[in-house]
Amino acid sequence: MKIHQLTVEQAYASLHSSLIGLPEHEARRRLQEYGPNRVEEVREESLLLSFAKEFTHFFALILWLAAMLAFVAEWNEPGQGMAMLGYAIIGVILINGVFSFWQEYRAHKAVVALRNLLPHQVKAMRDGALRQIPAAELVPGDVILLADGDAVPADCRLLEAFGVRVNNATITGESLPLARNSERSSQDEAQNSRNVLLAGTTMVSGEAKALVYATGMHSEFGKIAHLTQVTGAALSPLQVEIMRLSRFIATLSVLIGVVFFLIGLWLGLPFWQNLIFAIGIIVANVPEGLLPTVTLALAMATQRMVKRNALVCHLPAVETLGSTTVICTDKTGTLTQNRMTIEKLFLSGKFYLPADIAQLRDSPLFAVAMYCHNLKQSEHEGKQVLLGDPMEVALLELARMAISAHPDHKRIDEIPFDTDRKRLSLLYKTPGGNMLYCKGALETVLPLCRDIHLNGRIQTLDDPYRQRLFQAQESMAEEGLRVLALAYRRSVPGTARERLEEELILCGLVGMEDPPRAEVPAAIARCRAAGIKVIMVTGDHPHTARAIGREIGLTQTPLIIVGDELRRMSQIQLQLALDAEEIIFARVGADQKMRIVQALKKKGEIVAVTGDGVNDAPALKAADVGISMGISGTDVAKQSADIILLDDNFASIVAAIEEGRAVFENIRKFMTYILTSNVPELIPYLAFVLFKIPLPLTIVQILAVDLGTDMLPALALGAEAPRDDVMQRPPRARSERLLHWPLLLRAYLFLGLLEAAAAMAAFFYVLHNGGWYYGQILAPDSTLYLQATTACLSAIIVMQVMNVFICRHPRESVFRFAWFGNRLLLLGIALEIILILLIVYMPLGNSLFGTTPIGVDVWLYAIPFGVAMLALDELRKALLRRFTK
Ligand code: ADP
Ligand code: MG
Repeated sequence: MKIHQLTVEQAYASLHSSLIGLPEHEARRRLQEYGPNRVEEVREESLLLSFAKEFTHFFALILWLAAMLAFVAEWNEPGQGMAMLGYAIIGVILINGVFSFWQEYRAHKAVVALRNLLPHQVKAMRDGALRQIPAAELVPGDVILLADGDAVPADCRLLEAFGVRVNNATITGESLPLARNSERSSQDEAQNSRNVLLAGTTMVSGEAKALVYATGMHSEFGKIAHLTQVTGAALSPLQVEIMRLSRFIATLSVLIGVVFFLIGLWLGLPFWQNLIFAIGIIVANVPEGLLPTVTLALAMATQRMVKRNALVCHLPAVETLGSTTVICTDKTGTLTQNRMTIEKLFLSGKFYLPADIAQLRDSPLFAVAMYCHNLKQSEHEGKQVLLGDPMEVALLELARMAISAHPDHKRIDEIPFDTDRKRLSLLYKTPGGNMLYCKGALETVLPLCRDIHLNGRIQTLDDPYRQRLFQAQESMAEEGLRVLALAYRRSVPGTARERLEEELILCGLVGMEDPPRAEVPAAIARCRAAGIKVIMVTGDHPHTARAIGREIGLTQTPLIIVGDELRRMSQIQLQLALDAEEIIFARVGADQKMRIVQALKKKGEIVAVTGDGVNDAPALKAADVGISMGISGTDVAKQSADIILLDDNFASIVAAIEEGRAVFENIRKFMTYILTSNVPELIPYLAFVLFKIPLPLTIVQILAVDLGTDMLPALALGAEAPRDDVMQRPPRARSERLLHWPLLLRAYLFLGLLEAAAAMAAFFYVLHNGGWYYGQILAPDSTLYLQATTACLSAIIVMQVMNVFICRHPRESVFRFAWFGNRLLLLGIALEIILILLIVYMPLGNSLFGTTPIGVDVWLYAIPFGVAMLALDELRKALLRRFTK
């Protein structure tokens, strides 16, 4: 018989397991035999195929065509050096392909590494003790515990279940939650059996104990995963923009090439020579490496983010984060530490301190505190620890000081906590009959209460006393305390589940202190400087929320909207309310969080929202950036999030935003750098055509710059660490393009022209010293001509070395940067210099690039131009800082 058709006892026996779980040594043996509990991902694309792609994309095809034309030219008119150009272009395709492949491979590796950073943990019984083990180590026969929000780690048979509902959408496509229980089933298929949980699905409510019977590739999910191909990641908006931009620039360069070709024809240049020049111009201007460089810049940003405790699950989130305008954040655990200490008790109409418990032992409050929780006793490195909500830990510890646990209390049912109900009820079987224990927000517990426990007697709760309770809650909330109401009742066996939470007896209130995280006030201040609005969205009491808001410097006199008001508001009213300078949402449920997110999006905001529970998943998905908690978050929330906070800390969100903004700036930096050198590559050709001088820079030399010396410094600019100032201006507008006029003007008309001036000056300096006169025609292999073009090329490199520093910021002085702050940058420059020295002084370099050694005087001649460019740009920056904000 199949496992779901067996009784619980038979199921244990069939897997040679038992109540206390597997012995550790047996689990290890089974892990050997059945392999890790992992679904091997189908390779998205073979390495070879993605390598081949680097040589067959749009740009590569243009280049292949150019190379072919060069060979045709050679065949047509041998001896003009056209074959050389053909080989050079093929070299370009190869170098560029390999470099792009390497960049993309590194980016891919970085993203995969991130995925493995957060191993999925499961609570399993081993040797009779509850342990947290990695899901990958589960074996058939393991006994595991699951709760709402957990991802089911393997196929398993339920042993015990309280209110279990699952979402099987990943397997069956059915997205409505389905009820599950532990009774034996007569179904044929395990999939449809009500006592089976399938790997890859999620538990949306309840608590369960279950027996693993199939892991990894043996599970239903593993079988499907074999069949379906994992779809590749979509490109981020920025990558799409870069791709469009590269295509645009490529088209533009083809156009320019054609125009120059026509000018050449008109001026009467020989046909083949003219054609080759046109090809050269196209090749020089096609921005081959742009897209992979951007991808790598994004991937490197994710690595910096993870160091600051923000784990990025989708690459596009990096840039969306950078343009975030509003953060909707949870309070407990994110703004606060989630370390609860009990400060006050309100019992029988009076406030008490925890120190007073000696006189309060008779209160039923301690029984509720003792039993009304979902904590798990677990073994960690030989010590017993309590896993679960710190609030419940604090209550249990308080109860243990007052009374001792009764061994005969057996839990038989649960009505789970969620952010909408805001209370938790547990039903226990005790020697004295069934008991229901309930705790939660006073607003949701009090309406269920008929009586109150007052000075050892049970009395009817009258309205004046209800008022007193609310006052007591408010006075505690005013101090920033988190208030819980505790209640209980005797329950007749067989009571319908819906009627369990009725006619409760209130025991009292507990006020708990949860101090703010130390880093939060500074993070809030940074958001303010960065023009990012922070909205607290909490399930807690409005006064508690306000007190905490004040303590962390978030809000002084906020508009507070509670869940009930929010429910009555229309979409328009809500959007208007969101205009308020300071605003807090309190006592709201998860569905309302979703509404807030939608309203903000309607207002054109870019919204980041935090969440941890099952109910938060829709809001996380709806937001521009969904942020889930790494520690307290449920698996469901993590699966819906774009970013996971490894430390649950609000400050980490702000750090991630900073990195996101920096990426955008960095991409602009290297675009400026790359575009600048296009001008000194074009102008020599213009001068050659228009003024009939010898060609100052050959096509092969242009390629040496674009695909040799410029590459690594550009990459290094993409890896710059964020500067303080990125968080001192408002978020970038959604409509703001990457390439804007200031950048283009600066690159082409300012820096580019200066570089061109240096290059041409160096060229003429050498010619002039060699006795050249205007109109004289130099043989292409004469030493004077070779030296002159070499000088032109070397001058461009000298200028580009300076330019790396200049491009580190569009408006901040070069001298405000640490020279050794970015090691990749220094490495890039070192490589750039080594390359140019090889090109100028090595015989091989000479023959490949048409160069010849030049004297020290030429270098010395070029340097003042570099210094002048730096000085002029410093002046420009100073003026910019002075006259604009
Ligand atoms: P927060 O926004 O502070 O995280 P929650 O949505 O988690 O708020 O909780 C909202 C309210 O629900 C709390 O103020 C508290 O009254 C109640 N509550 C929270 N956790 C529990 C729990 N484990 N059991 C019972 N009630 C709870
Ligand atoms: Mg919470």
